[in-house]
Amino acid sequence: MTPETIGMIERLIGFPTVSRDSNLELIDYVREYLRPYDADVRLTFDDDRRKANLFATIGPRRDGGLVLSGHTDVVPVDGQAWDSDPFKLVEKNGRLFGRGTSDMKSYIAIALALLPRYASRLTKPVHFALSYDEEVGCIGVGRLIRDLETAKVRPSGCIVGEPTLMAPVIAHKGKKSFRCSVRGLAAHSAYAPSAVNAVEAAAEAVAYLKRMARRSRDKGPYDHGFDVSHTTIHTGVIRGGTALNIVPHECTFDFEFRYLPSVDADALIDEVEGYINSELEPEMRDIDPKSGFKIVRLSEIPPLDTSAETEIVALVQELSGNHDVGKVSYGTEASQFQRAGIPSVVCGPGSIEQAHKPNEFIEVAQVEASERFLGKLLDRLI
Ligand SMILES: [Zn+2]
Repeated sequence: MTPETIGMIERLIGFPTVSRDSNLELIDYVREYLRPYDADVRLTFDDDRRKANLFATIGPRRDGGLVLSGHTDVVPVDGQAWDSDPFKLVEKNGRLFGRGTSDMKSYIAIALALLPRYASRLTKPVHFALSYDEEVGCIGVGRLIRDLETAKVRPSGCIVGEPTLMAPVIAHKGKKSFRCSVRGLAAHSAYAPSAVNAVEAAAEAVAYLKRMARRSRDKGPYDHGFDVSHTTIHTGVIRGGTALNIVPHECTFDFEFRYLPSVDADALIDEVEGYINSELEPEMRDIDPKSGFKIVRLSEIPPLDTSAETEIVALVQELSGNHDVGKVSYGTEASQFQRAGIPSVVCGPGSIEQAHKPNEFIEVAQVEASERFLGKLLDRLI
């Protein structure tokens, strides 16, 4: 591990870029860092201009080259018992501790720290894509990608450095999440038959989602390349009711589908809506025509399904020395690059096991493996 690498990891960990907060200090720091290398820097902001994506091109301005992509935001540390300050890098027993060490500032830091050795010799462009709001549903990177399309920047591949223990990952599940609001009609609970109980209606819809989840567990379709080999359906939050003697007039719940690339997720949501429209709402509306369900989409991550025959996959296999290809159940930004016509692979240092937990760390050996990998990769661009 070079002093430049550890210094850069320490620097990036020191910016407390929790998704709900601004990441602009980190973005400004990277922009200044890139200045001596004649970087072409494009920023795209969120609506409040409190957060930004950074896309930087170094080397010749032409098509091709590779994108090194990572998110700058980290998950919160609230309520977690840390043994040290999460935003101050601590090295201990061959591990680096700090929020974002594995997920995923080390990858960005290693690539930035290597740059001075290569910047003046590049014959193909290297692009850095740093995003905001990944942890809250891969929301930020969409603006970065649309900006690239407008600017007609056409890299030939993208490596997203999410923690895979340096194994090439070519597929991940898609995710669609929804909020369902149920409107009922309140009454004294002694007169329940004249009211519409929103909690009970929601419960029937949640139970239907659970039946769908069991069906996909028991009947597939399956892809055993994934650690969870089938589509999963889950309700994570439910709120409703105020007192036992009042029939509740409101209930909301949040649910998600995490689906295999081969599965049509729109058909899943159509099925739930079909059940609600035909089985639940008629009975509610017999009592109060204004009652019913409303479902809104919260977030969406398309699935990733890169062919194992793609050039970028072969390159990552060769440089990592790891010829297996993996599939993971969590979503990443790789699928959005892929959809924009940039073949994408996920491969980065550290383990997803350590992500989002107190005392998050990365093994120094992983940092070193990633230094070697990115060094060889940049060698290919000179
Ligand atoms: Zn991540």
